Amino acid sequence: MDILVTGAGIGGLAAALSLQHAGFDRVRIVEAAPELRPLGAGVNLLPNAVRELAALGLFDELVTAAARTDEIRYYARTGGLIWRDDRSAGSGHRWPQLSLQRGRLHTVLTEAVRARLGADAIVTDSRLTGFTELPGGRLRTTLRHGRGASSSTLDTDVLVGADGIRSAVRATLHPHEDGPAWNGTTVWRGTTRMPPFLGGTSMLVTGDGTQKVVAYAMSPDLDREGRTLVNWAASRPADGGAEADRSDWNRPVPQAKFLPHFRDWDLGFLDVTALLAGASGAFEYPMLDRDPLPRWSFGHTTLLGDAAHAMCPMGSGGTTQAVIDARALAYCLATSGGIEAALTAYEEHRRPAMTELQLANRNMGPEIVIDMTYDRAPAGFRQATDVIPAAELADVARHHARIGAFDPAAASTGSPWTV
Ligand SMILES: Cc1cc2nc3c(=O)[nH]c(=O)nc-3n(C[C@H](O)[C@H](O)[C@H](O)COP(=O)(O)OP(=O)(O)OC[C@H]3O[C@@H](n4cnc5c(N)ncnc54)[C@H](O)[C@@H]3O)c2cc1C
Repeated sequence: MDILVTGAGIGGLAAALSLQHAGFDRVRIVEAAPELRPLGAGVNLLPNAVRELAALGLFDELVTAAARTDEIRYYARTGGLIWRDDRSAGSGHRWPQLSLQRGRLHTVLTEAVRARLGADAIVTDSRLTGFTELPGGRLRTTLRHGRGASSSTLDTDVLVGADGIRSAVRATLHPHEDGPAWNGTTVWRGTTRMPPFLGGTSMLVTGDGTQKVVAYAMSPDLDREGRTLVNWAASRPADGGAEADRSDWNRPVPQAKFLPHFRDWDLGFLDVTALLAGASGAFEYPMLDRDPLPRWSFGHTTLLGDAAHAMCPMGSGGTTQAVIDARALAYCLATSGGIEAALTAYEEHRRPAMTELQLANRNMGPEIVIDMTYDRAPAGFRQATDVIPAAELADVARHHARIGAFDPAAASTGSPWTV
């Protein structure tokens, strides 16, 4: 069976590896970019994604490339601790949460694909522009090369659209759908070399009713000066400058553009203003997602990762869920009778939960605890539980982990997706 994956992002690469692991060896990826480069800043792999990548034999490589994140701490801008979400082994998690540079993860997966499926398994400079169904259900894809200088066709039995938030496969399946939705928030991100804060294994989320900053270490070791590499993202409602169609992850902006909004932000253990100012550069993008879809699979074609369910980046789920999609898809193709039945089964496993997660993330996901405490105590508090009962705070984190299937009960079992 020929399987064509569109897009060599984390989702497409994980799909190729999962398919190969499940017994499919005629798997190819077409990627629009002229060459594969280790792009992006930090991403997180939640425990369920780490388990699935471990099942693919990649655990040791990932651990040596990543920082372990043992807890998520939510702080009010005024400095009070709101909630602590424990992700350590002591909390019942068998697999760690790993924070790492997207480029490192991309390189680990790319090298594994080339080693296992062949040096030519990833075909770059090949943008899928459309596809049609042939008699019998096979598909004929059209690919554009060299910025449109030439084109070619490629036939396949199965087409997997892993081509990101502006997926061409999705646009072909749902031609009347609007593009990405913008929630009016601008995000700036960067990386700063600095001594670790909170022991170096904590992700920090801090904010008030308007602005937020997320920061975490993402390098496995300290450098000679005792510094780690911290990834941060700062967000606030747009002043009118950001536009929804500027979704490039690598659009540089001067820090002066946003630093005035984040001045005098000091949590005591971390000077947030200095963190943002200390970066070597900064990038801006609008916070986009996609509307949940009523259907992912049509005949021999389906969607995966951001192409299927791009979500607002609350709770670090985008990359994790792309990996889980990949494993679930391979499992269904290997265990269901026929391609259409397999793609339907895959969608039944994944779409309902991803729809719930997309909608929860539109409503701030687990970061909602910051807005909840700010609404009730804008000037700050002595203890967060004086303002919100601990059970209510715990419920927010528990609910989010349950939808994303990374709570200890779901994520500490063996992989449900190993054939
Ligand atoms: C360059 C880049 C940098 C990023 N940086 C970060 C970051 O710092 N932090 C973070 O949290 N998330 C980042 N993301 C997003 C994050 O990687 C994804 O949300 C998540 O990993 C899900 O991945 P995906 O494979 O579904 O989609 P993506 O990572 O978006 O990958 C989609 C891939 O498909 C390719 N593609 C698109 N259209 C076509 C087409 N028509 N034909 C062929 N190929 C196509 C793209 O070039 C890309 O390689 C970044 C994404 C990209 C593309």
